[in-house]
Amino acid sequence: MLEGGREPPSGLEWPEGLRDVRGAVHCHSFLSHDSEGSWTRIASAARSVGVEFVLLSDHPSPGFIERSPRGLLDGVWLIGGGELSAEGRKGSLLALGPTRTPSSPGDGNAAIIESIHSAGGVAIVAHAEEFTAFDVPGYDGIEIQNLHAALRDRCPAIVLLGGLLLPPPLFFRYVVPRPDHNLDRYGELLDQGRRLTVVAGGDAHENIQLLGWVFGTYAETFKAASTHLLVEGEVNDGSIMDALRRGRSYAAFESLSSTLGFVFVGQSPRAGVALPGDDLPLAKETRLMATAPGNSRFILRRGSRVVATRRGNRLDHCPRQEGLYWLEVQQGNRCWIITSPIAVVGEQP
Ligand SMILES: [Zn+2]
Repeated sequence: MLEGGREPPSGLEWPEGLRDVRGAVHCHSFLSHDSEGSWTRIASAARSVGVEFVLLSDHPSPGFIERSPRGLLDGVWLIGGGELSAEGRKGSLLALGPTRTPSSPGDGNAAIIESIHSAGGVAIVAHAEEFTAFDVPGYDGIEIQNLHAALRDRCPAIVLLGGLLLPPPLFFRYVVPRPDHNLDRYGELLDQGRRLTVVAGGDAHENIQLLGWVFGTYAETFKAASTHLLVEGEVNDGSIMDALRRGRSYAAFESLSSTLGFVFVGQSPRAGVALPGDDLPLAKETRLMATAPGNSRFILRRGSRVVATRRGNRLDHCPRQEGLYWLEVQQGNRCWIITSPIAVVGEQP
């Protein structure tokens, strides 16, 4: 039995002590010039929607990581981090969980990524819709959706009308589009063999006012775009960062529905269970399996190629080729879940 009453697919031996933990990635606090959010406000918003960790990404200033939180506040793990402008201001690079402020590296993307790694952080391409340097080596993951950008690129009249007429969950459900462009890039990068950690970016600032009312509160944004990590043992700084580094993640848009009951795993007779981020040896009996509540549509891809689609609450597929396999799950034809890849690899002799 998994945490929260989740049942793994039948016949699977679920790794002992593994938890699916819901979190928020790409969040700005008062350390950014364009937000006033306090850490207590962020933590209490997170707790109110069942988010257990927040990976902050403030706009940098001298020594800001040393002034960022790193620990439990109001039952929520807050971990400081930064959002560094990418070369030519085309997109950005998130520095998630660095232990010190990245040195000012100049304008080159490779140098920015290197500065994030040497400060102990995980480097994630953010605002992927603007980023143009996907060939640069070394980044660890991709922000598959950025809510702020998705709304900015939408027709303003639709956003305004939707904001006025729809309560927040319905607004995010119907107004935020599927991130087609980012998903295409993601598939192509996996075709090249790049193992990436998928995160969803709320880009929460709580700084948009509409007729005197705050639009996109922290709580609404956390709920609309969350990042789930498969964490071993206690939820803490070390286990969160470990899961993030290993790519044990999926992005979820839970204005559509809670992901409680969702599992995506591989299994092979010799290696046992493989999670997103893991290797899964290719053999005759190797399987990729998923379950999800309700009537879902599963789209399994190897890199950019669709290899299986199913409707219902279960997918079971025997891969025949090596490659990076990932899952998109839709509900009501809307994008709901996007996983990091499981690497199906040739069996070692
Ligand atoms: Zn941001």
